[in-house]
Amino acid sequence: MSSTKTAPVENSVFQKVISHAKEYGFVFPSSEIYDGLAAVYDYGQNGVELKNNLKMCWWKSMTQLHDNIVGIDAAILMHPKTWVASGHVASFADPMLDNKDSKKRYRADQLLEKHTDELKANGQAEKAQQVLDEMNKLLTDNDLKGLLDLIIAEKIKCPLSGTANWTEIRQFNLMFSTQLGAMAEEASEIYLRPETAQGIFVNYLNVQKTGRMKLPFGIAQIGKAFRNEIVARQFIFRMREFEQMEMQFFIQPGTQKEWYEKWKTTRLKWHKALGLPAEKLQYHDHVKLAHYADAAVDIEFEFPFGFKEMEGIHSRTDFDLTEHEKLSKKKQQYYDNDINKNYVPYVIETSVGADRLFLAHLCNAYTEEQGVDADGNTKERIFLKLHPAVAPIKAAIFPLTKKDGLPEKAMKIFDDLKLDFKVTYEEKDSIGKRYTRQDLLGTPFCITVDHQTLEDDTVTVRYRDTVVQERLPISALRAKIEHETSMKRIFEQL
Ligand code: ATP
Repeated sequence: MSSTKTAPVENSVFQKVISHAKEYGFVFPSSEIYDGLAAVYDYGQNGVELKNNLKMCWWKSMTQLHDNIVGIDAAILMHPKTWVASGHVASFADPMLDNKDSKKRYRADQLLEKHTDELKANGQAEKAQQVLDEMNKLLTDNDLKGLLDLIIAEKIKCPLSGTANWTEIRQFNLMFSTQLGAMAEEASEIYLRPETAQGIFVNYLNVQKTGRMKLPFGIAQIGKAFRNEIVARQFIFRMREFEQMEMQFFIQPGTQKEWYEKWKTTRLKWHKALGLPAEKLQYHDHVKLAHYADAAVDIEFEFPFGFKEMEGIHSRTDFDLTEHEKLSKKKQQYYDNDINKNYVPYVIETSVGADRLFLAHLCNAYTEEQGVDADGNTKERIFLKLHPAVAPIKAAIFPLTKKDGLPEKAMKIFDDLKLDFKVTYEEKDSIGKRYTRQDLLGTPFCITVDHQTLEDDTVTVRYRDTVVQERLPISALRAKIEHETSMKRIFEQL
């Protein structure tokens, strides 16, 4: 649950990434013809390929590389008691207040953190720390009146109206609710799941028994989650409908420290293997722990707006299973043959947002470079330096011209390669324009069929990152693309 705060920072690189995502079919605002729906987005024809590749890479890393991790796909709608047991009904809320003049709504802790950032920037680090300590204490005590007093005492103003004319602070629950059943009198209120984890917890014994799983074992799931985020900005970083990739690892109580460290290391390594640079990744230990955790760390990525959470690793103890046991009155215990004992397992959770991972890869890949065009003029080149294994399109096949049988020859290569890879065929526009277009989509290889191809069955392969061109036999293409774009090379590093 919420800990790392985000600030609405506008910056030009980020703006460029957002425009690029829209212009080249990666991400569109939802229902755009009606002016969009705040903090809801759709993935376009290239975005969905990139996202699916990232998800597949995670899924296989979990379920294929570990014999003791299996997957499930639970429903979004769950029995409402689930969210009572998990603590979401009681405490999944953010403290919000409105400015009466601008009518803008703010998260109290974010206003205070922005203020302390400014204090720090003005050389008042000690004072900033005092305010943060006070804020953390008030948040822990759920003292909303105290929080407001602190905001007033610090003379914090609304950035829009410039006034300190605040409403009182109220807790807003982040869960979306809806009605189950058509008739109002029969209907009961249910929630869209705010995390995928609970679908795993309520199924843990089903999986354990039917799969004859022995502890330690894990259950992985990819699926939608919904949060009525009040302050939803920064593009797909904070959405109201998003996708999580979560894995709950069930372990013997007492071994949590060791497994927590192991998963912390494993997950960071995974992000590096996918090509995110080490210097843009860092751990951020939680000081204030969520109600269910005895240790928690975020893996943060350096987005253009700063280091922010991309993945959370939590040692969730036996909190969830014990609460489900109490509320459902169904035993959630595991019989451990090795020690002849029944117990409720402890859980280590790894939870990464597919959308934040996507955004991290898009931001990291976006590259502007000075290059030289075919006529020798210096020109800016924009390309997406995506890891070839996650790039939406693996190779583009072009006939140099539209005549002399070149399209037919190129189409034959396309028809052959499409059986193994997501490839594309293009014959419109000059070769230079076609290269540029593929660069903008992050396609690692462009394959050009020219007159020489008709004589000796060789083609030019042009590489996205270096723009180097190489002549290769058609018969070598499959192995070349396979080697460069296979997820196997990522998995070998794990
Ligand atoms: P934050 O503090 O940024 O709100 P969180 O700590 O509430 O995030 P978790 O509950 O730990 O997030 O969820 C796990 C992961 O799900 C996060 O690391 C993030 O990648 C993703 N996630 C959470 N909320 C959102 C959201 N509103 N939009 C997109 N991804 C999200």
